[in-house]
Amino acid sequence: MERKRSRKREAILDCLRQTDVHPSAEWVYRRLKPRIPDLSLATVYRNLALFKQEGLICSLGVVQGLERFDGDTSPHVHFICTGCGRILDLPGLQLPAELASQAVQITGGQVTGASLRFHGVCRHCATPSPAEAAG
Ligand code: ZN
Ligand code: MN
Repeated sequence: MERKRSRKREAILDCLRQTDVHPSAEWVYRRLKPRIPDLSLATVYRNLALFKQEGLICSLGVVQGLERFDGDTSPHVHFICTGCGRILDLPGLQLPAELASQAVQITGGQVTGASLRFHGVCRHCATPSPAEAAG
């Protein structure tokens, strides 16, 4: 039983680390279900919540009604498409360091992390496909 549980845990964590789609719990569930027939959506939810607490993954918030997760916890900037829900990494971008020192000055506290998310329309959504344009 214990072994079975940790096998699922590992599969869920691996799944998150091996994709860059920044998936929802539902996406992870659909992906793993054929390989792990007794997997339940509740188990996926529970493990994702645990991973989040343990700092193994991070949450990118709710996009189109579903919470989205990232298995890459290194600091990086995201672009979230409000059209299709795609979440892209923008690896070349960095938060300017002076922003953090300004935050420290203003709050008189300490900064332990920061994240930046752009919202917009991705290039797939910005250019309608020929079918859509015709319809
Ligand atoms: Zn899009
Ligand atoms: Mn990411």
